[in-house]
Amino acid sequence: MPGDLSQLRLLPSMTQLLQSSSAQQLSARFSHALTVRALRTTLEQAREEIQAGAICPSIDELLTDAQLSLEREQLSHLRPLINATGVIINTNLGRAPLSSDALHAIQQVASGYSNLEYELEAGERGSRHVHVQALLRELTGAEAALVTNNNAAAVLLGLSALASGREVVISRGQLVEIGGGFRVPDVMRQSGCQLVEVGTTNRTRISDYEQAFTERTALFLSVHPSNFLISGFTESTSIYALSELAHKRGLLVMDDLGSGCLLDCEKYGLMHEPTPQESLAQGADLVCFSGDKLLGGPQAGILVGKADVIARLAKHPLMRAVRIDKMTLAALEMTLRHYQRGQVETHIPIWRMIAAQPEQIAVRASQWMERLRAEGITARVQQGESTIGGGSLPGETLPTSLLALDAANLPVSLNEISARLRRRATPIIARILRDTLLLDPRTVFEEHDTTVVQGLSESLSH
Ligand SMILES: *Cc1c(COP(=O)(O)O)cnc(C)c1O
Repeated sequence: MPGDLSQLRLLPSMTQLLQSSSAQQLSARFSHALTVRALRTTLEQAREEIQAGAICPSIDELLTDAQLSLEREQLSHLRPLINATGVIINTNLGRAPLSSDALHAIQQVASGYSNLEYELEAGERGSRHVHVQALLRELTGAEAALVTNNNAAAVLLGLSALASGREVVISRGQLVEIGGGFRVPDVMRQSGCQLVEVGTTNRTRISDYEQAFTERTALFLSVHPSNFLISGFTESTSIYALSELAHKRGLLVMDDLGSGCLLDCEKYGLMHEPTPQESLAQGADLVCFSGDKLLGGPQAGILVGKADVIARLAKHPLMRAVRIDKMTLAALEMTLRHYQRGQVETHIPIWRMIAAQPEQIAVRASQWMERLRAEGITARVQQGESTIGGGSLPGETLPTSLLALDAANLPVSLNEISARLRRRATPIIARILRDTLLLDPRTVFEEHDTTVVQGLSESLSH
């Protein structure tokens, strides 16, 4: 049966709605045009509902609908969320969170003018690269340093500047795909160099490099396999041996470390991760790594090495295309200062998470559980593992305590709960393992504990 025509006639006009004080407040917040659009949609919906048999909503109801839809529409598309996955450097979730000092540095530099490319002493044009050069030299022992927009750009720049039109020798065990379409052979092709593969997937010796050498060879490239582990009957060549051979032949050695950890990972119960300091000390001419993996800073590519090599990169035409922006530079400088000041574990979020004590995490997981229990929700705490992620330290885990919600105790499916958690204004990303929803306090900032408990409780009760 068609809707009641008299109800349809009760529907207010656009003009009537716009005259209300609520509509005027919406116009002030979101503009007249967006308010009209939201009201029009709301009116159309009400009309359809009346035709389907509903009674006419009040003006207040219509205005509230329009306000909710405007507020939802105007939420930032890129927005913060809570990472309860236990994957510390989560590429999909924005990799490394920045320290509050780094954020402050961004704000200071970005909200006004700065000496980005200006020499204050001389009062003349300067270079944006100088701001972190001294720090990078001090922290890695390099002669010179340069920064780019990310490490993929650093690799492309390094290979283009040093080996375009010439041969680059690399072990078959290092022709890896890092993820997101970054495949070492493709990047090499793109930089105009010719790939010469040596050795086998699991074993490559110095004699393999020696035999590959021709008068067209420009450099030996070493790539950290990152997210990929070759174990068992394996052999690879040290940077020391590669550099010794390369330098005898007048070639260069470039080492793409990927994560580029400046600290001794073993101190944190993790596997040894080669550092830029070690690679340079062993003779590498150019070492590159990311700013937002184990360094714990902003997305950036960092190149450290011999002064003449860095100078060739700085002059290359690609440099301009891959340059770092001022906000990144501000955050990177502050992140590096944390290293210089010995504030890594206290100030850099990913290292605070890596260094978190299992007992501390267990206490938080239990608190979450108790607070949920107080709201009538059954949860458990179980032992589990956090991972480093970001293509760093594959297979390496840290013992943790997880909040676990079993499907059997929940009013709706695990998929539905996790979808509700994702749809919140501050989404919460959890993990589902078989019949359990798991949340790891290690990757959740303590100031978000209440938000997590509230999110779970609301998602389970509506
Ligand atoms: C991650 C990674 C890259 C790419 O670095 P981005 O900073 O993500 O551009 C390149 N090489 C290796 C070995 C990596 O692990």
